[in-house]
Formats: sequence, C-alpha cells, structure tokens
Amino acid sequence: MIYEEIMYGVKCDRCHEIYENSDGCTVSSDKYDMEEEACENDWQEIDGRHYCPDCYTRDENDEDKIIVKPLIHYSFFKFQSLVNQLTGCHHRMSQDDTHFILRNNYCYKRMDNPRLAILREIIPDFTLEYKVPEKQSGKPYEHEIIRIPKDFKHAI
Ligand SMILES: [Zn+2]
Repeated sequence: MIYEEIMYGVKCDRCHEIYENSDGCTVSSDKYDMEEEACENDWQEIDGRHYCPDCYTRDENDEDKIIVKPLIHYSFFKFQSLVNQLTGCHHRMSQDDTHFILRNNYCYKRMDNPRLAILREIIPDFTLEYKVPEKQSGKPYEHEIIRIPKDFKHAI
C-alpha cells in the first residue's frame, strides 16, 4: 500500500542549511521533533526563525545574547542552485571566516569551461579545486570544492 504523509524539518533562515541529526535524518512526522533536536544541537530559534551554528555568534560580554550574522545576498543561492543543476550533484554549503564553501564529495566529472563561464556571470570571483580522496572505492571520483569570498561581487 502506498500512503502519503506530511513531514517536517528545520532549515536555517540565513544559509538554508537543513538540520540533520546523528542518524542522518532530516524530517519527522511530528512538527516539532526536529526543531527540538536542532535546538539541543546548537541551533537557535529567534522570533520564529531558525539559525544553524554557522550563522550566529554570541555577544562577547553576554553569552546568552545571540547575534545573527549579516544576511547573504540572494545571488549566492542562485549560484548554488545553478551549480547543482549544471553538475547534477548536490553541493553542501559550509563556511569558514572568509569564504562560503560548496562541496560535492563524489564528483565523477569535472566542470567544463562553458559551465564555469555561466557561473562566473553570476559571481565572477570564485575558486574551484579538485582533490583526490585518500581512499576510494569503485569508480574513481574526486572532491569538488568551490570557494566564494564572503564579500563576493555579484553581477545581478
Ligand atoms: Zn545557517
């Protein structure tokens, strides 16, 4: 029998990262299950919005005071969805102090110049790196890593 059920998950209002628990699960049929779990794992709920650990800091003088990082320009999300479309692979986003990082650990085909040219029309100054994993099984693949400076310039 096939049945349909509504599931609920938690997405970061700033970077759109989806909360995933230690079992690799992102949704639950209980509306508040994932929210509760996320908040036990350093996510924050502020005025009905949710923020992952990468998207806020704490006030130096008041540990309880949460400071949400500045909004990310929408052209970044356009860039990210185009990366996924052009490669046919989901790229996970992470951040360090200076860069947004889009990463696909199982890249079987490098991006060619025409695709890169399309991406550079949205955000010109990203870097692309391919790394051979230490161990791999089956068909050879690489890690595909795209770094975008946090103060990126955008064409649109
Ligand atoms: Zn986030």
